[in-house]
Amino acid sequence: MLNKAIELDAADPLARFRERFDLPDGVIYLDGNSLGALPKSTRERLAQVVDAEWGRDLIRSWNTADWIGMPQRVGGKIAPLIGACPHEVIACDSVSVNLAKLIGAALHMRPGRTVVLSEPGNFPTDIYMVQGSPAEQRLAARDRIVDALDENVALLMLTHVHYKTGAMFDMAALTEAAHAAGALVLWDLSHSGGAVPVDLGACNADMAVGCGYKYLNGGPGAPAYAFVAERHHAALVNPISGWMGHAAPFAFSDEYAPAPGVSRLLAGTPPVLAMAALECGVELMAEIGIEPLVAKSRALSEFFRAAMAEHCPGLECVSPADPALRGSQLSYRHLEAYALSQALIARGVIGDFRAPDVLRLGFAPAYVGFADCARAIEALAEVLASGAWQREEFRQRAAVT
Ligand SMILES: *Cc1c(COP(=O)(O)O)cnc(C)c1O
Repeated sequence: MLNKAIELDAADPLARFRERFDLPDGVIYLDGNSLGALPKSTRERLAQVVDAEWGRDLIRSWNTADWIGMPQRVGGKIAPLIGACPHEVIACDSVSVNLAKLIGAALHMRPGRTVVLSEPGNFPTDIYMVQGSPAEQRLAARDRIVDALDENVALLMLTHVHYKTGAMFDMAALTEAAHAAGALVLWDLSHSGGAVPVDLGACNADMAVGCGYKYLNGGPGAPAYAFVAERHHAALVNPISGWMGHAAPFAFSDEYAPAPGVSRLLAGTPPVLAMAALECGVELMAEIGIEPLVAKSRALSEFFRAAMAEHCPGLECVSPADPALRGSQLSYRHLEAYALSQALIARGVIGDFRAPDVLRLGFAPAYVGFADCARAIEALAEVLASGAWQREEFRQRAAVT
């Protein structure tokens, strides 16, 4: 397995990008779907922003370094990764806050309709944001979603790639079904952007949000992004009507007047340091290009899945077998998946655990290699065969799993 993996790495056109990231020796990092690795360019860029732009130029940098234009500029660089036009995407806030804004906007665009439709087991914050909104929540199982669309549904809100299983929805088909029922669609691309093919434009999607700190490598708590199709810009209402989304923030008017297009999705002052870090991660992904990223992601996870079936046949894979139907991850079910993930981490193989029983391994295509996969499987096979995961220390749950 390892020899084959080394051969595949030697032939991998993306292998050279690994050295653009700062990854510690001895660590096999299969958790880029939860927190992307650190691009080397980020360290230099942050030092420049801190020392020159903030430390030396102070407040002038809002203009001279175009801090004020960062949300639009970074959004525009994310756009090609998700099949959007640059002026349809803005980088701001967290996924959670962007969901709240777009749920509110969708309710406004569909007066008389009160329901937001989603699936049970969607990422918690997505569902919580519906519960905190004026909308009525409706949840339908994945295969019943189309049946649950009716004249009361204002918005169909789904996560494109499921965070736990990696299962991917058919974006084009579901968007079309929602439109046929008169509803809008909001896609959460947190586990998609930078890892799987996404074409919001071709799918005729209305709205989307996505995460900056996963496959975009923007750093812990990086700003997220929001997409609204151009045809909706005129009717777009941001319920969090802050001054940065005003048409003329520095007119200091008492009357709110929205900025054109997605710029009105801004609320408060952009986090410049975090935006600068996100921009570095996004630029690196854009430089590699989404097609090579997708091809590598599929090759990695297919290699992993086949080798697991051979070397760890006892672990049930709960991700779709067809790489075209899943994200850049594989999830395995085990009753003690948490202890298993901890025993792996003790061996330098970092994946994660999702309650109640899923060991989740992500294959960030920009820096994970085939030999990483082979070594991770060797470690997993050893942990399972020796029962090392049963040690008490591996069962102590930390705050973040
Ligand atoms: C990671 C993730 C989020 C994160 O939301 P934040 O508000 O940025 O913490 C939201 N939705 C999904 C589907 C995710 O995977």
